[in-house]
Parts: sequence; C-alpha cells; structure tokens
Amino acid sequence: MADQHEHDHHDHDHDHEHGETEVQKVVGEEPDLTRGTARPITVVGNPVLHRETQTVTAFDDELASLIDDMFQSMYAAEGVGLAANQIGVDRKVFVYDCPDDEGVRHVGHVVNPVLEELPAGRRVLDDSQEGCLSVPTAYKELARPDFAAVTGQDKHGNPIRVEGTGFFARCLQHETDHLYGFLYIDKLSKRDRKDALRQMADGTPKYATVAND
Ligand SMILES: [Zn+2]
Repeated sequence: MADQHEHDHHDHDHDHEHGETEVQKVVGEEPDLTRGTARPITVVGNPVLHRETQTVTAFDDELASLIDDMFQSMYAAEGVGLAANQIGVDRKVFVYDCPDDEGVRHVGHVVNPVLEELPAGRRVLDDSQEGCLSVPTAYKELARPDFAAVTGQDKHGNPIRVEGTGFFARCLQHETDHLYGFLYIDKLSKRDRKDALRQMADGTPKYATVAND
C-alpha cells in the first residue's frame, strides 16, 4: 500500500482482530504529535503527483516541519505511508507508519529515497491488494517484490537505509514511486486502472482532499 490502511487482510492479521494482547514491536521513532498540522490530500490528476519531485538540499527547520505535517496528514487520512506530493509539496520525502507481515510496526521518514535494485534471486512477487490515499476508495491487486530496501537521508542529512518485507516492502516501493511521479494504478493493466478509477468515482473519501481544476 500502499499508503492506505485497508490492505487485504492476510490470514495472520486476524489475530489482531480478536484482541490479542501481544506487545507490538516498533522499529523507528514515533513522531511528536504535538507538532504539525494535517493538510488535505492531492488526488490522481493533480500535476504534482505525475512528475518527479525535487531533490531536497536544505536540511532545515522547514523540512522538519514539513515532516511533522506529513505525519499529521497521514494519520488524519488513516494511511500507512505518505509522500510529500500527496499534500502538494514538490520535494522528495516520504513518511510511514506501516506494519510488515510479521506484525512489526515500522515508523519513520526518508528524504531523497532511492530504491535498491534487487538481486535476481530475491525477486519473489507478492500479489496483495494495494490502495492509495490519492486514489481514494479504490483497491487493486498488484504484484510487487516482497522485499525492498531504500537508501536516502534523514531530516538532518545523515545517510540512512530502510528495508522491509511483505506489506512494508510494498509501502516502501509505493512511496518511492510517488516521488518519481508514479501512482500504483500506473502499473496496472488498462482494464484494472480503469476499474480503479471507477471505484474512486463511486466512493467518498473519509478525509479531506484537494479538488482538481
Ligand atoms: Zn499512494
């Protein structure tokens, strides 16, 4: 997702629905939610989503406050990931708060992400459903590698590398794609893309969106 919450529920996700009290492992740093303001989400058709975003060169307070706003916007929309251009900002940054298939919750941000090429032997495809806050109320199956690693920087400019499996791998790929101007529906067959857009036209998002001209 995937930046949307209602990914298909894998069988082992049902554990959580029955209220087990296991302590969830968190990898990463949870944001300070006393900072930042939620902003409305841009949707398919908005030009900012369909071109490569600008590389971040200034690791300053403005970048830190953009990241605060991105976390607030992601949580307000109940997403599991958010790219800057999804709130209309033309910069290479994404944030995430996303579970993997083992129930580990991954939280963080990546500035100037680059997806690592996978060795041929590691390309195991997973064809779970995917959704996107910028294509509200639509979901489609999309095959993606079940492992992903992204290199980039943190908000202070330090080099970082984030890797994940399962649903979190899907998220890392999805958010990086956003910053290069691609939505997941761009990777679907024409027929599936059309169907996703029909689902979007028929649905009503539960969060604020930016109207297209
Ligand atoms: Zn998305």
